[in-house]
Amino acid sequence: MEKGMTHQMETPTNVTIKGILGTLMASLDDENKKRVISLGMGDPTAHSCFTTSDIVRDSVVQTLESQKFNGYAPTVGLPPARKAISEYLSMNLPYKLSPDDVYITAGCTQAIEVAISILAKPNANILVPKPGFPIYELCAAFRNVEIRHYELLPNNGWEVDLDAVNALADENTVAIVVINPGNPCGNVYSYQHLKKVAETAKKHRILVIADEVYGHLAFGENPFVPMGVFGSMVPVLTLGSLSKRWLVPGWRLGWFVTTDPKGIFKNAKTVERLKKYFDICGGPATFIQAAVPRILENTKEVFFARTLGILKQTSDICFKKIKEIPCLTCPQKAQGAMSVMVKLDVSQLKDVSDDIDFCFKLAREESVILLPGLTVGLKNWVRITFAAEPSSLEEALDRVKLFYQKHSHQHKIQSDLL
Ligand SMILES: *Cc1c(COP(=O)(O)O)cnc(C)c1O
Repeated sequence: MEKGMTHQMETPTNVTIKGILGTLMASLDDENKKRVISLGMGDPTAHSCFTTSDIVRDSVVQTLESQKFNGYAPTVGLPPARKAISEYLSMNLPYKLSPDDVYITAGCTQAIEVAISILAKPNANILVPKPGFPIYELCAAFRNVEIRHYELLPNNGWEVDLDAVNALADENTVAIVVINPGNPCGNVYSYQHLKKVAETAKKHRILVIADEVYGHLAFGENPFVPMGVFGSMVPVLTLGSLSKRWLVPGWRLGWFVTTDPKGIFKNAKTVERLKKYFDICGGPATFIQAAVPRILENTKEVFFARTLGILKQTSDICFKKIKEIPCLTCPQKAQGAMSVMVKLDVSQLKDVSDDIDFCFKLAREESVILLPGLTVGLKNWVRITFAAEPSSLEEALDRVKLFYQKHSHQHKIQSDLL
């Protein structure tokens, strides 16, 4: 493909994050000798400071070496793993989940796929955040579920625009997706805000899909509050995984949980449908499932605290460095998760047409990979993943600043004067 053509993108819903990042990497100029720094992908394990704990690794080594877990697990998941996850999640809830509420999935991605497949019916629509996580759009497209975007409010801590939700929901709306702590915005919602979301969902008689894959990865003012806290008000599907908090995204161990103390899913025969659906799902490897009880019980607080310490430090670096780059503004410092959204003002640049053009030129000239906002639903914004080595992050953002200086109108005026 010609280099100039790599900018061409189809509609955003056809673009995956991995896809666009692959194109960006492929467009890198071989003659550019700068070391490539990717702040595009949400896989922290690319940076050595984000290595899982020895306890987590040894748990899997033990189950593998025991030779007891070479067979199939039940399709809904290995019973001790379901029990451990139900206990882990119950610690932060005002009621106790049962192991039967937990279904083990191949990462949070498969939990998303299950949620959308189970809810699909003719004319159904679901409400998803914008900016958001493109997997929801992709799954919904396969299942013929209509996606309706509600906005997150950048000047309001990226809170859910509840007026938009009220305007979008109708008799065919089945669910609202809430991602908290948030990717791509780094938001962590307060108890009060989540309560309002729950009340709004109740009013429209829709359920909440709570994507809590970043659960507990909160390092700002607000503590992490699981949506399931409001499970008595509105039925909640809680989705999560080991991927982010335990830094093992490749292990593909996730969960789909009916957080529903009133048993609404049971009455609606949803549980029967779920069990059938899991008969056609392939879950994670049995020995990984078998390690879950040890992992959840034995991971030390110092490991979590260390990760949070680094993320807090790198999100501070990110916020500070962005302030030095006039064409970028960050409306809200990240309070959790691993990424933040920054607004791009292309009018300050003489030869950059939009966020995609910005990311391609930045990749080619400075070997820094950022994710164009369009891939997460916001044109002329950029997503920056700050789950990186602090020194690499600083270097990358210094290069972004250099890129700004080279491309700003100011630069042209100066060179004209010379
Ligand atoms: C990473 C991520 C997922 C997918 O998690 P896996 O466990 O890796 O499948 C789902 N939702 C959001 C918001 C994510 O950032």
